[in-house]
Amino acid sequence: MLRILCFCVFIVHSLSVPAEVYSEGNDCVIGELAQEIASYKDVVERILEYTTNGAFKGKTYDELAKFVDKFGARPSGSNSLEESIDYMIELSRQEHLDDITTEELEVPHWVRGHEKILMMRPRLKNIALLGLGTSVSTPPEGITADVVVVSSFDKLAEISDDEIKGRIVLFDAAYTTYGETVVYRSQGATKAAEKGAVACLIKSITPFSINSPHTGSQHYDGNVTKIPTAAISLEDADLLRRLYDRNEKIVLKIKMSSRFNTKISRNTLVDLKGTEHPEKLVIVSGHIDSWDVGQGAMDDGGGLFVSWAAPVVLKRLNLIPKRTVRSIFWTSEELGLIGAIDYEQRHRNESHNINFIMESDEGTFSPRGLAVAGTQKARCIVAEILKLFTSIDASTFVEESRPGSDITVIVEKGIPGASLLNANEKYFWYHHSEGDTLNVENPAELDLCTGFWTAVAYIIADLSSDIPR
Ligand SMILES: [Zn+2]
Repeated sequence: MLRILCFCVFIVHSLSVPAEVYSEGNDCVIGELAQEIASYKDVVERILEYTTNGAFKGKTYDELAKFVDKFGARPSGSNSLEESIDYMIELSRQEHLDDITTEELEVPHWVRGHEKILMMRPRLKNIALLGLGTSVSTPPEGITADVVVVSSFDKLAEISDDEIKGRIVLFDAAYTTYGETVVYRSQGATKAAEKGAVACLIKSITPFSINSPHTGSQHYDGNVTKIPTAAISLEDADLLRRLYDRNEKIVLKIKMSSRFNTKISRNTLVDLKGTEHPEKLVIVSGHIDSWDVGQGAMDDGGGLFVSWAAPVVLKRLNLIPKRTVRSIFWTSEELGLIGAIDYEQRHRNESHNINFIMESDEGTFSPRGLAVAGTQKARCIVAEILKLFTSIDASTFVEESRPGSDITVIVEKGIPGASLLNANEKYFWYHHSEGDTLNVENPAELDLCTGFWTAVAYIIADLSSDIPR
């Protein structure tokens, strides 16, 4: 997920005033806490040295590689996902992290079957596709129909229902940002069905393609007829657009099959118990499920493994903070943040104990800083902590009301949190496609992410003050 980011500047003064945190306008005055935060400089260096040069160098990548090569894709409800959860529990135990809880919940299980699109007119050509998650099947004989190409919902609305009825609608919206463009994937089938279309295709939500379709979730709204829906590659979408603009009659034959039911899966909680306030939590997290294509190495294997590594590194260095560091491996993120929603409901009565929650789900390329949600007082403290990461160029602070994907369901309840900013300009090249493999990941960049993630979590978990709400 990617959002529109608001870049805000915080000016932090180091004044000898009481340790109470307060703010005036956009200025931060955090008093003695600034000195306390600065005193973690040596710990930050020790953690970064350990993950980038010491015994943990290359470890995050090596463990991620073993994991994604062993299990491959881990779609919600699949056996491979459950086996991969068992594996992560065992991997944590091998690091002497024995305080592990799993929480069972019901998750969607959508299984892709046979999929094929053949262009019948103006010439025979196979069209590369990936059905969208929760799409219904076509009839066994397929759907053969003319194509109408529209670039937006507004353009669709300009065309009469008679011209859409019985046809296949292709949305070929130009990619701007993921957040803006993804509505065609999530709502395209509903909008097309409302006007009588028999199937819906979307141009994949990506800025780059080597004829690679990108899947993702979609929803059928209300009482609308559920029509089959799939993503096609940028190249094929552009071809169909050119033919359409030349008034060529385009006929496609679409055959898709899928199954949909529910299964039981688990969120996994790995705790490194705090020394003084074990009930208070600093959470680091990533999702363990993936789409059913590629290896889910980037989305979200990288985020999963830097979050797994945080308590592991702290335990190995015998850095046990005052509060508990909890690593959460979310299940079933891809089919609607299902694991996070369950966690928020299950732990709502004790949510006052979540001091800070972090998520990495937009890549683990070179770390740049954090996108942070919380009160200004909370943001001032995190901005001060980020100053300790100038040596690795990871001090960027961005204010973001809904950071992350899974953790938004918790942050929107007023709990402060952050997602990892990283050099992820190419993230959506690979996202939800066969291209999401280990080749996207880089050992040195993962080492930096692990060091950054671990050190930030340690400082917040060890500070004398809670992150204010
Ligand atoms: Zn993800």
